[in-house]
Amino acid sequence: MLELKSRKEVERIAWGGQIIGTLFGELEEKIRVEITTQEIDTFAEEFIRSHDGAVPIFKGLYGFPGAVCISVNEEIVHGIPSASRRLREGDIVTVDVGVKREGWCSDSARTFRVGEVEEETEELLRVTSEALTAAIAEAVPGGHVGDIGAAVMQTVDGTGFRIIRDLVGHGIGRNVHEDPQVPNLGKRGEGPLLREGMVIAIEPMIAVGTDRIRTLDDGWTVITQDRSLSAHFEHTVAVMEDGPRILTDAVEPVVRSGYTS
Ligand code: MG
Ligand code: MG
Repeated sequence: MLELKSRKEVERIAWGGQIIGTLFGELEEKIRVEITTQEIDTFAEEFIRSHDGAVPIFKGLYGFPGAVCISVNEEIVHGIPSASRRLREGDIVTVDVGVKREGWCSDSARTFRVGEVEEETEELLRVTSEALTAAIAEAVPGGHVGDIGAAVMQTVDGTGFRIIRDLVGHGIGRNVHEDPQVPNLGKRGEGPLLREGMVIAIEPMIAVGTDRIRTLDDGWTVITQDRSLSAHFEHTVAVMEDGPRILTDAVEPVVRSGYTS
C-alpha cells in the first residue's frame, strides 16, 4: 500500500534523518587509512543511540549482524562490518544507515574516500552524487516514479559507468521498506504518480564496469561480478507541495567538496 504522510509525520522522519546527516559529517573526519569497518560501525551505533530514542534499524533486520552496512570498493550494498577489514589508501567505502526514532524510519547512504583516490574513482563519486541530486529534483507532486530513474540514466549516460539495475530505492515511513519501489532506470511519465506526502528513499548505485551483481558466501555482501568499484548515494526525500525536501541532511548542513545534496 502506498501511504501518504502528514506534514507532522514528515517532521518526525526528518527528526531521525538529521541524525544520519550529522553522523556523515562526523564520518568525513573519522574515515581514514587504517580504520576498520568494525570501528566505523561501533562509532555509528554509539552516535545514533546517543540521540534520545534513536536506534539503528539495520541491526538484526532480517538477521543482519552490524548496526550499519559498510561496503568497500567492489561491494555495492550490505557489507558486514569487520574487525579484520582495515581500510587502505585509495579505497572507497559506502556507509548505509537506517535510523528509527519514535516509530519513524529514515535511510541514507554515502560513499567516502579513504585518503587520496584515483581520478576515475573521483569521477565515479561525482557522477553518482550528481545522479542523486538530479533524481531528487524530480520528486515533485504530479511527477512519476519513472522521472526519477530517467534522471539517473540521463546523468550516467555517456560516462561509461553502469547503473546497478537490480537494486532499487523504496517508499519509507513506519517501515524502512514500503511501496513504491523506486528504480534507478525509468521512462518519464511512467510508473506510480508522485503525490504530496509521499516519502521515498532515492538511492542510485553506479559501477565502473559491469552492472551484473552477485552475493558473497556470507549471504549478505552484494558485489559487482567483475569486482569493479561501485558507489552509492542515498537520501530520504519527502514530496512536498513546494518541491522535494531532503530529510536526511545534517541539522547544520556541512558543505564539503565532491558531495552535493
Ligand atoms: Mg540505505
Ligand atoms: Mg534504502
